[in-house]
Amino acid sequence: MSTATVTLDNRFARELAELAVPWAAEAALAPRLLALDEDLAAELGLDPAWLRTPAGVALLTGAAVPDGAAPVAQAYAGHQFGGYSPRLGDGRALLLGELTGTDGRPRDLHLKGSGRTPFARGGDGLAAVGPMLREYVVARAMHALGIPTTRSLAVVATGRTVLRDTPLPGAVLARVAASHLRVGTFQYARATGDTGLLRRLADHAIARHHPAAAQAERPYLALFEAVLAAQAALVARWMHAGFVHGVMNTDNMTISGETIDYGPCAFLEAFDLRAVFSSIDHGGRYAYGNQPLVAQWNLARFAEALLPLLHDDPAEAAAVATASLGAFRDRYEAAWSDGLRAKLGLPGDADPDAVAALAADLLPLLEQSRVDHTSFYRALARTARGDAEPARRLFADPEAFAAWAARWLALGPDPDAMDRVNPVYIPRNHLVEEALAAAVDGDLGPLDRLVGAVSAPYDERPGLDRYAAHAPPDFGAYRTFCGT
Ligand code: AMP
Ligand code: MG
Ligand code: MG
Repeated sequence: MSTATVTLDNRFARELAELAVPWAAEAALAPRLLALDEDLAAELGLDPAWLRTPAGVALLTGAAVPDGAAPVAQAYAGHQFGGYSPRLGDGRALLLGELTGTDGRPRDLHLKGSGRTPFARGGDGLAAVGPMLREYVVARAMHALGIPTTRSLAVVATGRTVLRDTPLPGAVLARVAASHLRVGTFQYARATGDTGLLRRLADHAIARHHPAAAQAERPYLALFEAVLAAQAALVARWMHAGFVHGVMNTDNMTISGETIDYGPCAFLEAFDLRAVFSSIDHGGRYAYGNQPLVAQWNLARFAEALLPLLHDDPAEAAAVATASLGAFRDRYEAAWSDGLRAKLGLPGDADPDAVAALAADLLPLLEQSRVDHTSFYRALARTARGDAEPARRLFADPEAFAAWAARWLALGPDPDAMDRVNPVYIPRNHLVEEALAAAVDGDLGPLDRLVGAVSAPYDERPGLDRYAAHAPPDFGAYRTFCGT
């Protein structure tokens, strides 16, 4: 394999030139491969052994660009914490091009931390090793959990120093995604006032992600509804995994329905609807329990961007969009209830009202006792196997829990089915921090072991107990950071 045998299409750059600024990556001074997802490489038809060679690493940092590829920085706008920014875009990232996987589906090959672009504003265009490895491990965990996500192909240390509060080693992340189209991409296109551009963007999104919409009576409304359905399903998955995205700005919400931008994200330990980890989310806008509402708010911004395509009459377009947006709540609740039913090991035909009543009574119990969300469902499966103690001892009021569990047991839960959907291993915050600190100090062992544990999250294995355990009390409150 060589760079010459890697084929990258430039469909986005070609079809949507107004949203693409041709650009090149800044050279890495002393590139060193820190992490590579060999399974993903194989899915993409890339030889993992070749990716480890200097020529492969040159592809992964943007130093070598295959013939025919046309790397670009993508333009987008976005609402950040509710405030509109008309011009965000890839300030430190590049779309190298589209790669067709062995399954025939196109994927974006994208770099993050590859140097300043015309969208960099005050930023330095760079990324540090710790945060890029953080995205690497969390995205691997999300994929292994079966949650739609952008994927991390590789992290390469650049040999450059990045100045944050302190000097840090720099890195580039090679990211793979169904696409990098965001709600913010549509907001940007809409703001240009060029409805032809907006229509081309929508047609591109339909062809790439929601092809059934092309056959619908109203293709652009069908696109909106398909994105709404994908996001409702995605956020329900986040809630069941205890995942807090942390920065659900409209530029961080994809049209594909994949999770994107692992900046200040974290997994819950203690179940708490108000949980916030991001150091800048003072108002709790992106708290764990707010995520469904924020998704709906972002979809309203998406609908606004699409209005000129929905109807020639603005009032009619707004009425159509509002009616469709109203479906979000039911969609989300159906996805969430079905997910909880599965977590509780109940059959698909379980009485929905009985499941809803169990859910309504369980969540306050979990919250009152600050129960470890991940451990709980595995312990609960043991209750169904006749060993009630592991779950009972998680609760401050074991009698209240026992009363709930008796009602649940009466519905005949299947503990093996539970263990197939409730993970043992998630990237717990203290383990992530430990692995990143070691990696920055030159020891990749803890990171490799953590990736190993979370890559098979449902499969309990001997010797991995520490990857299933709650953070030690001295770990304290966890804080995460954006844009590092
Ligand atoms: P995020 O909060 O990660 O979604 O980023 C929001 C915007 O800030 C995007 O337009 C990024 O490209 C840009 N950005 C974040 N960090 C940097 C940086 N170090 N240099 C340039 N642009 C950045
Ligand atoms: Mg972002
Ligand atoms: Mg980010």
